[in-house]
Amino acid sequence: MMMKKIYGILGDPVAHSLSPVMHNAAFEKLGMDAVYLAFRVSKAELEDAIRGAKSLGIAGLNVTIPLKEKALLFVDAEEVAKKIGAINTIDFGSGTPMGYNTDGIGSMQVLKETVGELKGENVLIIGAGGAAKAIAFYLYLEGAKVTLANRTKERAAQLAATLSNADAIGLGAEFKKQIKASDILINATSVGMHPHEDATLVNADMMHQDLVVFDIVYNPVETKLLKEAKRAGVKKIVDGVKMLVYQGAASFKIWTKEEPPIEVMEKAVTDALASE
Ligand code: NAP
Repeated sequence: MMMKKIYGILGDPVAHSLSPVMHNAAFEKLGMDAVYLAFRVSKAELEDAIRGAKSLGIAGLNVTIPLKEKALLFVDAEEVAKKIGAINTIDFGSGTPMGYNTDGIGSMQVLKETVGELKGENVLIIGAGGAAKAIAFYLYLEGAKVTLANRTKERAAQLAATLSNADAIGLGAEFKKQIKASDILINATSVGMHPHEDATLVNADMMHQDLVVFDIVYNPVETKLLKEAKRAGVKKIVDGVKMLVYQGAASFKIWTKEEPPIEVMEKAVTDALASE
C-alpha cells in the first residue's frame, strides 16, 4: 500500500499561512493521497527540523519568515537561490534536500502576464528584504532596469551591488522623481499589510497614468497602495494573490512533477482571505 505523502511549511509564526489551504485544495482536485501541514519551527530548531523531515520521509517543504535565508545552510540549493541568498522550497525527492526559490519565479510569471516582455523596462522595487531580493534578481535576469528604494538605504545599496545595472535610493525626494520615470512600481515591503491597512508609501499624486502598480502584499487583497493606484487611473493594477498562487504552483510542480491546478489553488486562497 502506498503511504500518504506529507508536505508542509516551516515558519515562525506560521498559523496565518495560506499555503496549507492552497496545496490541500490542489491535492484534492488531482485525487492525490497527500496532505500539507504547517509546522511552527524557530531558527534555532531549523536544522533539526529539516534533517528530521528527511528521516521521516516528508516529501517536500516550504520555508517562510524568518527561515528563508538560514535554510540555505542545510540544503543543496540551485544556483539562482544561492545568488538570491534565500530559499522558500525544499524537495526531498532525490534523497538530498534540494532548495529552490519560487518567489522570484512567481513574480515573473505575474509580470509577464501583465506586461509581456520585461527587457528594458524601468522597474522600481520598494523594499530590500527577502521578497525584494528574489524579485530584483529575476528582473535582472530578464534584462529589466531595476531601481531599489528602501527605508534603510544601505540595505538597498547592498542588494543593488549584487546586481550589475541596478540603482539604490531612499524614500525621499529622489524616490518621488524615480516613480515618475518608472514603467513598473512594485511594493515588496510589508507596508499596507493587515493590521496596518491604511498605510502606503506611495499616493495617487505621486503616480502617472502609464504606470503598472504591483503590490505583493495579499492581505488585504486591495491594499491602500492599489486603491491609490486606482484613484490615479494607472495603466494596470496587480495584487499579491497571483504571485502567492504562482510561487505555490511552482513548488507543487517541483515536488509532484504534476501540472498544478492553478484555478483551484487561487480559489482556495481567495476564499480563505474572504472568510478572515
Ligand atoms: P522582510 O524581509 O522582512 O522585508 C521587509 C521590507 O519592508 C524591508 O525592505 C523593510 O525596510 C520594509 N519595511 C517594513 N516596514 C516598513 C515601513 N514602515 N516603512 C518602510 N519600509 C518598511 O519581508 P519579506 O519577506 O521581503 O516580505 C515583504 C512583504 O511581502 C510581506 O508583506 C509578505 O507577506 C509579502 N510577500 C508576498 C509574497 C506573495 O507571494 N505575494 C511572497 C513573499 C512575500 P527596512 O529594510 O528599512 O527595514
